[in-house]
Amino acid sequence: MIERVGIVGGSVAGLSLALELQRRGIAARVYERSAGLLAHQGAGLMLARPIVERLGLAGARSVRRRLSLGPAGQVLWRQAVEKHAVGWSEVIGALRAQVEGIGLYEQCSVSAVGADPPRVHTARFGTETFDLVVGADGIGSVVRAAVDPGFEACYLGYVAVRGLIARRQLPSALPAVIDSLFDDAMAKVLLGGAHVTLYGLPGGDEPLNWMWYLNLPSGDLPGLLTDAQGIAHRWSLPAGTLPAATEARLRAMADERLPDWLAALVDSTETLFLQPVYAGFAQQMVAPGLVLVGDAAHLAVPHVGGGVTLALQDTLALAEAVAQTGAGLEERLSRWEAARLRANTPRLEFAVRLGLSLQSKGKDWTGWGAADFERWWSHILEDAPDDASR
Ligand SMILES: Cc1cc2nc3c(=O)[nH]c(=O)nc-3n(C[C@H](O)[C@H](O)[C@H](O)COP(=O)(O)OP(=O)(O)OC[C@H]3O[C@@H](n4cnc5c(N)ncnc54)[C@H](O)[C@@H]3O)c2cc1C
Repeated sequence: MIERVGIVGGSVAGLSLALELQRRGIAARVYERSAGLLAHQGAGLMLARPIVERLGLAGARSVRRRLSLGPAGQVLWRQAVEKHAVGWSEVIGALRAQVEGIGLYEQCSVSAVGADPPRVHTARFGTETFDLVVGADGIGSVVRAAVDPGFEACYLGYVAVRGLIARRQLPSALPAVIDSLFDDAMAKVLLGGAHVTLYGLPGGDEPLNWMWYLNLPSGDLPGLLTDAQGIAHRWSLPAGTLPAATEARLRAMADERLPDWLAALVDSTETLFLQPVYAGFAQQMVAPGLVLVGDAAHLAVPHVGGGVTLALQDTLALAEAVAQTGAGLEERLSRWEAARLRANTPRLEFAVRLGLSLQSKGKDWTGWGAADFERWWSHILEDAPDDASR
């Protein structure tokens, strides 16, 4: 019988797992190395409707159309979608509000985990033991090293440069289609060897969330991921920590490589985020006493807006498996793992195929008609469930 679970990571996966366990009468202790709403981690998110409902995100903006645009902002193709645009801090804020009273320890980094008995080690509390330890600690997971030591993250050859800009501060002379991004549309600007995703977020300032996917050789990463203090980061540079020289380099690249209106958008954005795009799936999500969920188990490739959905589906199903009584825990976890790998893998592979295709050089999208786009899309979708693309 599981009575106490230790959770490493207090973002989407960790908080939602704590909440689902609490609902089933199981105590959880969450260790989060950062503090606050983790605003440094993200800007905007696209979420599926069931997730928005589950989190009670009443203010999310409903998005019904995905527009593929050419370099001048002309509409090349339209797809129906059922997404909701929402700010990252709204998502974390909603989860935080629901997990009040749960043991959430901020600025408490887990330095090691062990299996027999399941345990975590932190500088603040020393070693603590649990009935189960769950790694919800994202891309650089310390728990994953113990569950799936063979795991390797694969850099896909491009980075996401991201920013938010308040609607009233948008540069003039943007294509007319931009207004629809504050209504019911989102857009991908297809540039042949690069693309830019754009959508408006709800809220007072109505920020426009933009993500420029830029091909860069892996040899550039160590320099790009060194922050203003000279500290080298492995996975991403949080907003506000880019050295002036890196920001200047990215802005100069935007001037060189992007159409004028997109370069103006980058130029008018005060703070830039930078995240290399990695793919990787743990072959194992379960080891004795230890489990992986969310990005710790499968690195979310951003283009289909599925990372949060997968993290929440992992955690809901895990809480159910943990709380059941019938079969032994080992068997329940093994069934959970098989079901999650079956559900997640085709979705993640689809996102990888889509990202690589959008970034591949030599395509002149402007010559494509609707039939070309439809053919391309069904080829990319392959055996992923249709809802993965909507
Ligand atoms: C450019 C980009 C755009 C994206 N856009 C979308 C989108 O539109 N829609 C969508 O659904 N998803 C999107 N994603 C993916 C989404 O952000 C992730 O899938 C989601 O955040 C995963 O949640 P998680 O809780 O598993 O991991 P994370 O959010 O990464 O959280 C891990 C947490 O663990 C903490 N932690 C790590 N190590 C330790 C430690 N040793 N001790 C204590 N705490 C620790 C970290 O501080 C962090 O808070 C995007 C990702 C990228 C890169």
